[in-house]
Amino acid sequence: MTDRYAVIGNPIAHSKSPLIHAEFARQTGEDISYTAVLATRETFVSVVGDFIGQGGKGMNVTVPFKEKAWKYLATDIAPRAASARAVNTLTFKDGKIIGDNTDGVGLLRDIEGNLEFPVAGRRVLLMGAGGAARGVLPALLNQRPSVLNIVNRSVDKARELRERFPASENLSATDYTGLSGSQFDLVINATSSSMNDELPPLPKGMFAAGALGYDLMYGRGLTPFLEFARSQGAAKLADGLGMLVEQAAESFLIWRGVRPDTRPVMAMLRGEE
Ligand code: NDP
Repeated sequence: MTDRYAVIGNPIAHSKSPLIHAEFARQTGEDISYTAVLATRETFVSVVGDFIGQGGKGMNVTVPFKEKAWKYLATDIAPRAASARAVNTLTFKDGKIIGDNTDGVGLLRDIEGNLEFPVAGRRVLLMGAGGAARGVLPALLNQRPSVLNIVNRSVDKARELRERFPASENLSATDYTGLSGSQFDLVINATSSSMNDELPPLPKGMFAAGALGYDLMYGRGLTPFLEFARSQGAAKLADGLGMLVEQAAESFLIWRGVRPDTRPVMAMLRGEE
């Protein structure tokens, strides 16, 4: 019997996840269906409940429900979702709702695997302190960068995030004015600024020689952030399509016990852009 999965979010109509998981299923021969489900803040919990009631096996959770899924839904939380305080993968099994977060591993697989850019010993700037930044921070810290600076427009949120990792001496938090004079090897835009074609107020001269500029946003070509990174001499630029496919592959692995090959799926999606 076909096992049912879905992604839940708002908006959701343009999600690429159904296409990605259909490709994974075709490639691995797994018998699954995967749809996109719209919910509101008010209906989120009941829509997930209905999906479970209909025999659903798992769900991906996207904007704006990742924190809600962590707080109100999961009965069991994987450590990486607990430290992120955000869930993007739900598994429904034996009456339990298991919450996990594959965003961090997805980003690292893209940066270190696909883009061949090791994080260890590098100076890293993480822009943003929302759901995406929280999701990727523990995975970035695990790779032991020499410096990890969180920058956010509302600096209190960046400081709050920093305080959750008291043992990480190389972790700091600042507002954008605090960046002047600093240089980074890896700058990750985990803000939603690119959605509105905006550029956070980054100072000039912050990209070190050989730096990678990475925007979590995808499907928008050269975003204002990537344009800025290029103009400031970043050696490599990447959007978040690779992360999207890699985090989906990690969810597929959790659900089906098989890791799909992400490269052909990325190539297919790049061909569509
Ligand atoms: P949230 O709404 O939780 O957080 C938004 C963050 O962006 C906040 O830190 C906010 O700052 C900051 N921000 C928004 N606009 C600006 C601006 N103009 N200048 C400076 N900072 C700004 O969003 P998420 O964290 O969930 O998502 C962030 C982005 O990551 C989205 O574009 C999303 O599509 C993308 N994403 C991509 C994934 C992938 O697989 N490629 C996975 C997950 C997310 P403040 O706190 O001051 O308001």
